[in-house]
Amino acid sequence: MVIFHDIQLKPKQKVSVTMLVIGLVCLTIFITATILLILSFHFKKQSLIDTALSLNSSNSKKMSLSMDRLFTSMRESLKYSVEILHNYPDMTSQEAYGKLELLRKSSHFFNSIAIVKETGQIHAASPASLSGLEGTVVASEVAKETLRLKAPYLSKPYLTPTTKRMIVSMSEPIFDKQGTYLGYIVGTIYLQEPNVISQVFGSTSIDENGSYYYVVSSEGHLLYHPDIKRVGENVIENPVVNELTQGHSGKRQVVNSRGIVQLAGYSIVPSTGWGIVVVSPGQAVDNLLHQFIQGILVYFVPAILLLLIIAIWLSRRLAQPFVALARLISHYEQGQSRDAEVSSYWNREADLLAKTIGRFLKHIEEHTDQLSREAMIDPLTGLVNRRGMEKIMNQWMLETEEYTLLIMDIDRFKTINDTYGHPTGDVMLNHLARLLQRNVLDEDVCCRYGGEEFVVLLKRTPLSEAYATSERIRCAFETDENPIGRTCTLSIGLAHYPTQTNEPAELLSFADQALYEAKRNGRNQSVVYNEDKKLLDNQQMLL
Ligand code: GH3
Ligand code: MG
Ligand code: MG
Repeated sequence: MVIFHDIQLKPKQKVSVTMLVIGLVCLTIFITATILLILSFHFKKQSLIDTALSLNSSNSKKMSLSMDRLFTSMRESLKYSVEILHNYPDMTSQEAYGKLELLRKSSHFFNSIAIVKETGQIHAASPASLSGLEGTVVASEVAKETLRLKAPYLSKPYLTPTTKRMIVSMSEPIFDKQGTYLGYIVGTIYLQEPNVISQVFGSTSIDENGSYYYVVSSEGHLLYHPDIKRVGENVIENPVVNELTQGHSGKRQVVNSRGIVQLAGYSIVPSTGWGIVVVSPGQAVDNLLHQFIQGILVYFVPAILLLLIIAIWLSRRLAQPFVALARLISHYEQGQSRDAEVSSYWNREADLLAKTIGRFLKHIEEHTDQLSREAMIDPLTGLVNRRGMEKIMNQWMLETEEYTLLIMDIDRFKTINDTYGHPTGDVMLNHLARLLQRNVLDEDVCCRYGGEEFVVLLKRTPLSEAYATSERIRCAFETDENPIGRTCTLSIGLAHYPTQTNEPAELLSFADQALYEAKRNGRNQSVVYNEDKKLLDNQQMLL
């Protein structure tokens, strides 16, 4: 902050350049930073969303391909099982069980495999935990449908009436060589237990960003979900699932059935009509955005601080010339620092102003000097006037210079004016002025005290020497040729500084008293001020 303590300004009511520049820079930074951050935030968010959607879409496609291959293999596996077991009526349940057990364990595609007769009775089932079901008739709608269709079949998820498991079954019909329908082989996937689908998605069903997969059937039922409790739930209300049930793959931002914003990529598995969905929570994008903004701020804040420091430094440098100039003018105003130099400045405008002010001050200075010189000169005679005389006397007093003061008055001057006219009187005054200048040294000072009275200051001159000079002047005035062509005389009073007084005003008064004495004594003479004589005169006057 610039200090204005000695300048007649009212800084509190005015805006300083420093504050103005800092304010402007702050405003610019604030507006720019806000626009930049908003735009960066917006574009980065869109870019992150697009990236996440594309990534999820690509992952869902890859996964649907894998699932497609898997289900094709599962179907192939069932067909192969039929080839092995097409003559199952000739086998005992135990033999059939052995083969089923072998088939199940060799591929691990199904959680269980069973042979169902054309009558709906279970002939054999693997694993062993289902052995108790042999001979029982399958009661589920899916089983009835399979028997009715006599064709390969992939069920929707359903709850088994006996074991109360949520399952999906894949079946393949068995025909003998004559083409007679003998029942079917069915492989089941236990949806709520570790199964072939959960193996595909691996052990970490939710990654570190919160992204996860889920699988829906063509009717919108959850076949696989990281939250196992939701398996079997119908989520067709979810826009993504809805799209899948209509056979569309794609990517989109959705609000799921629980009101959470998600970025989903989804693909149909061609062989099953199921859908694979990969979702990332919108929160993951927000987290990345926060990291991004923090990253920007790490670079931005030091840059802003640096900019502010530069602005403060620059504004101070901008303001400094104006403050210095104001201070300079203020000093001039108070009559100080008249010799102070106006500096030159780096800033073009300030330099121009400083130079102009410098020239102006010089001009004023010269003008003032001229005026004060003129104020101390008597226009008629060109001698120093009374004011100039007093100034010189004061100066000599300060310098403790010894001097003698002569005050002189033309005798009967009034008659000259009356006889020859006022202009001739002036000529006579000029005549005396030149005469005085001729009769003193350069270091002495001749003054016109007023009217036809003159003062001469004889520098470093004692009274005796001054008296001689006084007499020389007086005689010269009396005897020299003059403009009126007739004898004219002078009366002179003398007093000495500092022997008689060290007060300039008193010195003048003493000399004037001596002059008065000269006039009283008959004029045309020099009289030295004498203290004793004055006392004597006073005593005489008292008498
Ligand atoms: P004294 O011997 O007693 O000094 O007589 P004096 O006539 O000189 O005395 P006084 O002071 O009465 O007269 C001074 C005269 O000087 C009066 C005035 O008209 C005249 N005077 C004063 N200033 C000027 C001036 O500038 N020019 C002219 N021409 N006359 C001036
Ligand atoms: Mg007079
Ligand atoms: Mg006179």
